[in-house]
Amino acid sequence: MTLTAVHLGMDDIDSPRGGCTTHFASLLVEDLTQLGARWLDYPNLIRLNPNIPYRTRGNGAVTLRFEIKDSAVDKVLPRSNLLLKEYLKEDYPNTNPGMVITTGDVPVDLLGFAKLALWRTVPVALARRLVARLALPHIVVGNGRGLIGALSAIGNQLRQDHTYEYIAYRSIELTSRARGVDVDSVFRMNQKFGNRLFSNVDVSTRKILIEPHGPDPVIYGIRGETPLDVIKAADSIQSSQDKERWMVFRTNQGTGEHLRHRVRLSDIRPYMAAVVEGEVTTKSKIIEGGHVIFRITDGSAIAECAVYEPTGDFREIATMLTEGDKVSLDVGVRPASRMHGLTLNVEGLEILQLTDKPILANPICPHCLKRMKSAGKEKGFKCIRCGFKDPQAKKIEIPVERQLKVGRYLPPPRAQRHLTRPKDRMNRMNNGIPNNLVGKWYEP
Ligand SMILES: [Zn+2]
Repeated sequence: MTLTAVHLGMDDIDSPRGGCTTHFASLLVEDLTQLGARWLDYPNLIRLNPNIPYRTRGNGAVTLRFEIKDSAVDKVLPRSNLLLKEYLKEDYPNTNPGMVITTGDVPVDLLGFAKLALWRTVPVALARRLVARLALPHIVVGNGRGLIGALSAIGNQLRQDHTYEYIAYRSIELTSRARGVDVDSVFRMNQKFGNRLFSNVDVSTRKILIEPHGPDPVIYGIRGETPLDVIKAADSIQSSQDKERWMVFRTNQGTGEHLRHRVRLSDIRPYMAAVVEGEVTTKSKIIEGGHVIFRITDGSAIAECAVYEPTGDFREIATMLTEGDKVSLDVGVRPASRMHGLTLNVEGLEILQLTDKPILANPICPHCLKRMKSAGKEKGFKCIRCGFKDPQAKKIEIPVERQLKVGRYLPPPRAQRHLTRPKDRMNRMNNGIPNNLVGKWYEP
């Protein structure tokens, strides 16, 4: 009996009752195990470019990688399709599911495609062409957008840095009720596991980040460094709703994988995820709504940058930037609209160099010790209190003491993207595909 390696990618599987791609994947794992699948990897949960507007739900794409008897390979997609139809029950206008299958080694073209989908917009037409050219068996519903995530999830094999997420699911019949995740139990877990876990709580607001808010079957998801860490950590969590099933995913969350491209400001395009470097050209200012705006240039162009109000202390850092500071920014590009030009939404900030240029101020009257006013162009300064005039007086330099420090700054965990590399993971890399899986990594 010979076995064939199969990679089954899927994306955008929602249902009117509030399904989600990872939940569907957990059902499919059970089904394919019965068909004889031998698992080569944990299900991979792949987050794509977070700036793409229609991916607002953060609904990650998933790939299942397994070996199966040659004779069963042709049964995989029809069986998945059957389960998909049952899962979706009826047409749902906002969902565009896609599933794609490849066998053997992952085609090289998909590796490049997956890289692109992390930081650019990828047209559906490109995904369709790729599927046709490589003759990949696939299922597509709606406008075909699901193919993009399905292909990307196959192409991103997480060979370099990766993390894990344990996801607990409730019954799909009970998705309208409160999950009731106990906040204290989450903070106790966080204390106990320390830097083995990440991005599960927001300490400054004492908010938990493991519980989603939509009507989906996820009760909670715990992010961590190894499968055993997240499985053990889940034992500590108490919730009013019962777990119906759970599964561990290997993922690119927390890796910063979307920010691998340094882009010149003149090459910036809408929806890009990019790293830009430049010099601040205007002192930052706070606009209506509490957002902070400043401009930078790298010589090729000038760009408007924005730090949004909900990002708390991070916003305070941005308000202290001034003309001449050198910065490197992690950005998501928002296209121009009627209200504003093209804007770089700052999601990470590194201060490379702080300017120590002194501030120029008017000289002080030697009699009143108050600042004088200009007496007109090249006429020196005069005191409006006592009438003292000094035609030779020049502006004086006041040295500036900066409150900022050179270094890297991030928004608080509650405002970070799934893909953001958090402080807890700053010097951490988990490399390579796991050799073998832990004994129990899902439970129906
Ligand atoms: Zn005076």
